[in-house]
Amino acid sequence: MVRSVVSIVEPLGMDKEKAQKEITRLSHEIEGHNYRYYILDEPSVSDKEYDELLRELIKLEEQFPDLESPDSPSQRVGAKIPSGTATVTHRVKMYSLDNTYSMDELQEWHERVVKGLPGQKVEYVVELKIDGVSASLTYVRGRFTLGATRGDGVTGEDVTHNLKTVRSIPLKLMEKEGEYLPEVLEVRGEVYMNLKDFAALNKERKKNGEPIFANPRNATSGSVKLLDSRITAQRNLSCFIHSFGVLEGTASFKTQWEFLTAIPDWGLRVNGERRLCGTIDDVVACCQEYQRKRDTIPYEIDGVVIKVNSLKQQEQLGFTLKSPRWAVAYKFPARQVTTTVKDITVQVGRTGILTPVAELEPVECGGVTIARSTLHNFDEIKRLGVKKGDRVLVERAGDVIPKIVKVVEPPGKSSGLARSKSGQKALKVPAKCPSCGGAVAKEAEKDVAYRCVNPLCPEQIERGLLHFASRGAMDIEGLGESVIHQLCEKGLVKDFADIYFLKPKDLLELELFAEKKAENLLKAIEGSKKRPLSRFLFGLGILNVGEKVALILARRFGSLGKLLKAKSEDLEGARGIGGVIAVSIVQFFKQPATLTLIAKFKIAGVNFVEPVTSKRSGKLQGKKFVFTGELTLMTRGQAGARVQEMGADVIASVSAATDFVVAGENPGSKYQKAVNLGVKILNEKQFQEMINER
Ligand code: NAD
Repeated sequence: MVRSVVSIVEPLGMDKEKAQKEITRLSHEIEGHNYRYYILDEPSVSDKEYDELLRELIKLEEQFPDLESPDSPSQRVGAKIPSGTATVTHRVKMYSLDNTYSMDELQEWHERVVKGLPGQKVEYVVELKIDGVSASLTYVRGRFTLGATRGDGVTGEDVTHNLKTVRSIPLKLMEKEGEYLPEVLEVRGEVYMNLKDFAALNKERKKNGEPIFANPRNATSGSVKLLDSRITAQRNLSCFIHSFGVLEGTASFKTQWEFLTAIPDWGLRVNGERRLCGTIDDVVACCQEYQRKRDTIPYEIDGVVIKVNSLKQQEQLGFTLKSPRWAVAYKFPARQVTTTVKDITVQVGRTGILTPVAELEPVECGGVTIARSTLHNFDEIKRLGVKKGDRVLVERAGDVIPKIVKVVEPPGKSSGLARSKSGQKALKVPAKCPSCGGAVAKEAEKDVAYRCVNPLCPEQIERGLLHFASRGAMDIEGLGESVIHQLCEKGLVKDFADIYFLKPKDLLELELFAEKKAENLLKAIEGSKKRPLSRFLFGLGILNVGEKVALILARRFGSLGKLLKAKSEDLEGARGIGGVIAVSIVQFFKQPATLTLIAKFKIAGVNFVEPVTSKRSGKLQGKKFVFTGELTLMTRGQAGARVQEMGADVIASVSAATDFVVAGENPGSKYQKAVNLGVKILNEKQFQEMINER
């Protein structure tokens, strides 16, 4: 649970004096966060935590209304622009938006809208809430004359020079024949950075040793406020227009929908993803739909914005000091949260690579609880400067594994720039393997990875066996992490082949094992002996041999015997196998330990042959498949192997030549590309039907 929740005071038992102190403390902390977020673009807490602090303040102010001050951050938009900056006074105030986090809160907002418009029918427009930077663009007789940030809503920063470099902001509006352009038009929009450009920018900054941006919003904000617009121009910013402040002249609109539909004729860019909804139920369905699609959109959205469609009704509902009553944001679950690093441990992977892992204070992020995050390698620890006890910003987007974005300040320290000092020493590369005490070395000087070089390292064997038993390999149900750990710990299994010599009495020694469970596991182990050669090869965990390469090898050589005799040049002749892969394979099969292992597998009766492609093959001959998202009934590797067996090719990226895109859960950007190109998309059920039918 996040800190602000832990620190929630019990308002019922609170006297006024205590409440005043708490309001002052919270206001001060929030102001600090506003400064870091809006002015420095260096937030030290996640948006979720910020929003919770603000809610805490609002709750107290509601409880003690006479303690509420007009200066309270709950009553103000953004943050004041620092002196010395060129500023613009907005002709019409720019507001923020109220947030809702659940369908119940959305429903409550709808009820307030209906109450404010007695007896009237209400329509809503649902738009994407682009997570960028709010901008005001003024056009006088069609010419772009002024571009400003929202600032504190009354005064913004003059960023005309930089916004002129944004290609989707026209410098001159288009005039329709027979119609005049507005005398003065001030539109509001969101300037943002595509995820691809954001990743490229951070990669470059990382390479140059510069601090990386925490998210696309910070990167956009930093880019919009740069002094040198040549650099802004390189940042590939874009802009969607979503509202207007001033409209003087002949044009007029009656609804938000009409406005959004009309302005592209002037050359203004509007987001195509929007819906007109006649009921709140439609709005709810729309919010859910966009939440599902979030990962398929090429830029960050943090929610959707729901607006009353009629401009007349908007006027009737009016504004609070901070936000319109006629619009609200429905926020998606946060993707970034802050938490504390409890420890940094080192894991030995199945190929011996030592991977530092941050053990985190468990925290909810993007709908799941995160308790660990890989730090990839020791260079990454150095780059992040992360140590045990540090407060860190953690991110989880879609099906991407959680990662630490950066170290932030400890709670309570909302101002000042010093980074967290936990007083702990940075973790060094261990001189010995933490599992077996064996030697640790780098494969090559330029490698970032360190490896335990002992092939009998127990942790390597445990992880390797877990891989051997996994779904994409020998698929042994019941042979999971805890069983493998116990088998290895008790010395019952010292290499992969030992599992085929286990007896019922061995398994009965393990925790929670009774006869039936032991019998089932032995049956599953026995059944795995029949798996095709490709799965066996993949399971062995040979360096650089994934599911695809294993399948190519098995198809090409047909049996393990033939593969063992192959020389490097024979291997390189196979499509998809280059020199590096060939060397790994030859080296693996040359080792005496491998040959002993294979002999044991042979005695156990493990299949060493790849079955000849089935009669059904060829039905998908020449078809091109792309996979995106997580499949639940088989791994992506298995699905790929299946279509390949049927004559199809598996391609990495979507193009007009792709025949099918198979979309699992949380599909990536390939999904949207397929939609854009009109490529046939199959869900998992349709895909299963296709491969089973043929
Ligand atoms: P906001 O970003 O939550 O919402 C208002 C803004 O949404 C508008 O100003 C507009 O620019 C934008 N927007 C995007 N798409 C839109 C659309 N289709 N229609 C209308 N508006 C659209 O509000 P805010 O006041 O800019 O910022 C407050 C939020 O910022 C907080 O809720 C918090 O999440 C975050 N914040 C975080 C910190 C921190 O330290 N982490 C500090 C301050 C603020």
